[in-house]
Amino acid sequence: MDLLKLTDFFRSRKNIILFSLALLLIISIIACTCTVVSKNKTIKQLNTTISQNNKELEKINKEVSRLQGEIKASTDNNNQLKSQLDEANSQKNSLQAENEKLKKTIEQLSNKHQQNTIPIVSTPYGEPNSKLCYLTFDDGPSDNTLKILDILRRYNAKATFFVINTRKIDYIKDIHSQGHVVALHSYTHEYENIYSSADAYFADLNAISSTVEGIIGIKSNLIRFPGGSSNAINKNGLMNTLINSVKEKGYYYFDWNVDSGDALAKNVSYTKIVNNVLTAAKSKNSICVLMHDTQDKTSTVTALPYILEGLKNLGYRFEGLTQESKGYRHRG
Ligand SMILES: [Zn+2]
Repeated sequence: MDLLKLTDFFRSRKNIILFSLALLLIISIIACTCTVVSKNKTIKQLNTTISQNNKELEKINKEVSRLQGEIKASTDNNNQLKSQLDEANSQKNSLQAENEKLKKTIEQLSNKHQQNTIPIVSTPYGEPNSKLCYLTFDDGPSDNTLKILDILRRYNAKATFFVINTRKIDYIKDIHSQGHVVALHSYTHEYENIYSSADAYFADLNAISSTVEGIIGIKSNLIRFPGGSSNAINKNGLMNTLINSVKEKGYYYFDWNVDSGDALAKNVSYTKIVNNVLTAAKSKNSICVLMHDTQDKTSTVTALPYILEGLKNLGYRFEGLTQESKGYRHRG
């Protein structure tokens, strides 16, 4: 029955049109609703993405501001270091300038000092050293011996050491090994005992001879009398006896023809010692120079380079004494 009614309904054209319109409307409404739902869903998704991006952006912003802070701190630190560097550089420059000034002052003082102390020399370097110098050092070895040896080495000069028995007697090894002559002076250096008799003299001489031989294995026959052969102790012609006796026993004795004067008083100035030697050396062609190697004779050590320099300029060469060396005797 209902079916009949429905058939009747669609027999009318008007009803068909109405029904079609109603159907179209329904379909449109459904389609619209679907579209709106889909759009809403997309919007929701985009909003979620925006919110996530915002969070990320916030993080990045924080990092950026942290890095900016660090850059600022670094820049400040850099500026501080730059100003410290500038300050250090300016201090360095002023110290360098001061050093230069001091060097110039030292140079000026040193030139002045040399002008004041080095005696006038007439012969330039490079000429043949035709003159002969025997430098001799008495009464050592002492605390000054090694300094004397150093200076002699610098000038390639040889010397002779007339030794006595001292606390530093072992230094005769250094004297000997460096090519200098170790010669005999005395064991005790006590005039009263040594010059009390010929026997006493030779007992003393034998003692220093054995001591030297025991240390360097060489028996020396070169001697210097304490006080020289012209010493004032010549009691009852003792010195004449001794001079003859030492010759008979095969010894060669040496005095000097230039006295440095370093033992003529206590603390003789080095300029005086230098002048004594160089003044006396000017008028001679061969010299035997008396000096002393004792602990208190520090001015002799100071004078030595000036003496060597001055004598070298006067044309002297420096050798050690040998038994062939002639002269330099005050007596005999
Ligand atoms: Zn002496």
